[in-house]
Order: sequence, then C-alpha cells, then structure tokens
Amino acid sequence: MDRFLQGRTALVTGSTSGIGLAIAQALSAAGARVAINGLGTPEQIDAALKSVADAGSEARHFGADLRKPDEITTLLEAVQAWGQVDVLVNCAGIQHAAPLAEQPSQKWDDIIAINLSAAFHTMQHTLPGMAERGFGRVINIASVHGLVASKNKAPYVASKFGIVGLSKVAGLEYAAAGSRDSGGVTVNCICPGWVETPLIEPQIQAHRNGGSRDDGVRALLEEKQPSLRMSLPEDIGAMVVWLCRREAHNVTGAAMPMDGGWTSQ
Ligand code: NAD
Repeated sequence: MDRFLQGRTALVTGSTSGIGLAIAQALSAAGARVAINGLGTPEQIDAALKSVADAGSEARHFGADLRKPDEITTLLEAVQAWGQVDVLVNCAGIQHAAPLAEQPSQKWDDIIAINLSAAFHTMQHTLPGMAERGFGRVINIASVHGLVASKNKAPYVASKFGIVGLSKVAGLEYAAAGSRDSGGVTVNCICPGWVETPLIEPQIQAHRNGGSRDDGVRALLEEKQPSLRMSLPEDIGAMVVWLCRREAHNVTGAAMPMDGGWTSQ
C-alpha cells in the first residue's frame, strides 16, 4: 500500500461503524493518523479503534454528540491539539423514513443537525488551516438522495441536497488555495446508492421471497439501482483515498455518484 498520507491527520465523523469505519481504515492504510468519532458502546468503540490502528496508523477516538455545536467545538479543539486536520470526512448520518405529514419535528431537527449542520461546523473550523498549509481535503458523504429524491425521506433528502450545496460553495471559496504541487484544498461529495452495511440486511431478507440472499439484493435494487449490486463500504473508502491524492487537486465542488446508474435514469 502506498502510504502517501504519512504525516497527515484525518478526522472521520461517524466512523464507529459502517461506511465511516471503512473510510477510517482506508485512510489509516494510506498512512494518515485517524481521529475517529461516533457513538457506540465502549466495546464497539474499542473494536473500531483497533481495526483502524491494525490498518497501519495511529488512531484515537474523540467523542461528541454531533447534534450539539458546543460538543463539536470541543471535539475539534481536542483533535487539533492532537494534529492539524488535513483530511476531513463528514460521514455521520441518520435517517427516518415516513411521509412528510408524519415526520416528527424532532427527527427533522436531528437529521438536519447531524447530516448537514455538523458538516458546516467542522468545515468552518478546519478549512482556514488547510488553506494556510496549502493542502486539505474535505469529503462529505452525501447520497444519491443529494441528487434525486425518493418519497418518505423529506428531512434526509433535504439534508443531503443541503450538503451538496454547502460543498459546492466551500469548493469555490477554497479553489485557489495552495498549488498544484502542494495539492490544493478541495471539497467534494460522494453520493452512494445502496451500500452493503448491516443496517440494510433486514431489507434484503424481506425481499428474498423464498429465494437466495442474492435474489433478495436484486429484488431490493431493481426499482432504482440498475447495476443490481450494492457498493461495499471499502469501495467508498477507496474513492476517499483517491480524492486525497495530489493529482486530484482539480476535482473540487463535485458530487460524485457511486450508484450503479441510479441517477443516470
Ligand atoms: P451507520 O449507522 O453504520 O453509521 C452512522 C455513524 O454515524 C455511526 O458511527 C454513528 O455512531 C454516527 N452517529 C449517528 N448519530 C450521531 C451523533 N448524534 N453524533 C455522533 N455520531 C453519530 O450508517 P452508514 O450506512 O455507514 O452511513 C454513513 C453515511 O453514509 C451517512 O451519512 C448515510 O446517510 C450515508 N449513506 C449511506 C448509504 C447506505 O446505503 N448505507 C447510502 C448513501 C449514503
């Protein structure tokens, strides 16, 4: 593995499980020391930390409830005392499926706070330092739902369209920071379709109709994802690592689908 991120520090929010954990592992393997963040039992957090450290680099957990701006400030101060953030990945996210008329307003507030506002706060704290140093990467894990809508996901879709817009503004504001040699400062979104995480296993099982697990996956994806196969969390990790490379200096303000053709339709 090319450890081109040696000497860099990464912060990955929502990295105690799922996609964020795979991203933290990929960045560690590429040489970055990684600040992980997210909820979980002490055992889950220890297991996540161990897997990130086993991937090759130092890792530390920094707790914060991302619904609370003062906890985000404390988190960022603690991480920055450990290492200046060169790579910021906003991956923490939640969702709640229900028709708009039945969405509890507390769910709206929590989803907007975690999926969108937390990214604003982490970016506001870290982008100026990235610009001073001439290198920085912000990678926001949006969703196809940042590009197209589905029913029953009003707060989620609003938060994901919001983070795509926020990333475009930041991409423009920092486009001229640094140089081609230093790698510049870029801000992008990755927009996954279906990703194979434990979270969606019950939905796969519910679509089997007596067939195999693969039949269940195909039936679940048929409606929207033409490839009929899910991405793996590590597929997203690999794209994050590529975006961190110097040669990605001119990829900024982009919202990159990884959706098996969903948004091509
Ligand atoms: P996940 O539930 O496995 O991980 C979510 C992470 O966010 C966890 O680490 C959790 O602890 C953290 N988190 C939740 N609430 C928090 C809070 N209040 N404060 C701090 N951390 C908090 O989910 P995932 O499937 O890995 O999703 C990760 C991201 O990818 C989300 O933003 C999601 O919208 C996006 N995404 C997922 C899929 C998919 O199919 N799984 C598809 C497109 C986009």
